[in-house]
Amino acid sequence: MPSPVARHRPGDDGPSGHKGGKPRPAERLQRPGNPWATRRRFGVNLPIDPFAMERLPATELTPATAEALMQDLQQPAWRGRQLLEWVYQRKADDFDAMSNLPLAVRGRLRERIDPRPLQLARMQGSSDTTRKFLWRLHDGRYVETVLIPASPALYGGRSDRLTLCVSSQVGCAYACRFCASGLAGFTRNLSTGEIVGQVVGAARHSGQRIDNLVFMGMGEPLANLGRLLPALEILNASWGLGIGARHMTISTSGLAPQIERLAQVPLQIRLAISLHGASNEVRDRIMPVNRRYPIERLFEALQVWRRHKNQKLTFEYILIDQVNDGLDQAALLGRQARELDAKVNLIPYNTVHGLPWERPPLARQEQFLSQLRKRGVSATLRREKGHDIDAACGQLRLQEETADGLITDTHCPQPAHNQPA
Ligand code: SF4
Repeated sequence: MPSPVARHRPGDDGPSGHKGGKPRPAERLQRPGNPWATRRRFGVNLPIDPFAMERLPATELTPATAEALMQDLQQPAWRGRQLLEWVYQRKADDFDAMSNLPLAVRGRLRERIDPRPLQLARMQGSSDTTRKFLWRLHDGRYVETVLIPASPALYGGRSDRLTLCVSSQVGCAYACRFCASGLAGFTRNLSTGEIVGQVVGAARHSGQRIDNLVFMGMGEPLANLGRLLPALEILNASWGLGIGARHMTISTSGLAPQIERLAQVPLQIRLAISLHGASNEVRDRIMPVNRRYPIERLFEALQVWRRHKNQKLTFEYILIDQVNDGLDQAALLGRQARELDAKVNLIPYNTVHGLPWERPPLARQEQFLSQLRKRGVSATLRREKGHDIDAACGQLRLQEETADGLITDTHCPQPAHNQPA
């Protein structure tokens, strides 16, 4: 079997996920000769053709698409703004609710726009009010989104924020050894509308304003950069969800070229690196991607990032018993964090069904933390919220897709002491 990295090459935005089928509407729009103009923002083409054969997800609408659509329906362009307000500000997922749009227009919109690209399949809450949303997508696949209540600032922001952990792909090709999302491999990229739809849907179902996003759910966001960037624009724009760029954190397993590309994007977003090992030897055992982009290459990209952004970097470090919790790793990690002025989030390993690892005893976790602090590094030891609701990313989706017969086999990773395939 080819390695997961080879199956889905880092640097490649990947397939649209429509295996052997039609390209998605946004991709058709980019074809040469398309009469519909596209505009370039953040280095990517944004679709403005509302007349795609498939219905466009409402949560992919921009002022340009909404206005063009209304003009096609012989409506004034400002009706497009009304439509955007219903979708993003009022979170309406039913055209019947859009009372200031004429009835006939609502009927025509129904044919072209999908007001609810994600269906809520399950919502779980835990005693500490962490909530998990399981969404069913148009092709029967599932993704998860987790709403985390206010907690001490993990990514450099203020502490009183409601954070939503957003997915960017169905499954994941990167097979990090601690992660349930990679167990069944990669299925497809999420569309821009599906990424934004998680935020709109979670706000609608929770009734709360979400003001902090972490792209740390299922999938490697930087492997889906072409769809992620337009989503960031919608999430950030005043006509969209109006979430400040400083309150969005992209988490990556370490795709160095994409980090450099994202550094050029003129948004002060934050970056978190799933490091989980301070030396190549240890990181190779946990994260297969390290073989393609070893620590030296990753840190080169992080220097590029620092030259372009004012935001503090975050290193995520899952503490795994007898794997990466040694004091030698703490010392090395401390040096690396100091060099890049990065903050370190230590996360005790969260048990994943089918994986062999365990979290270290509390005393060792504290010792690791104090080693970092002794070196002047800003570090926190996170107590996982939602531990009691299968909050480890990807577990709920695995259960649901296995029950639906969509997943028949999972590729359980080898124990940590084995080298990855
Ligand atoms: S940690 Fe992220 S990149 Fe790694 S397998 Fe899980 S979802 Fe993919």
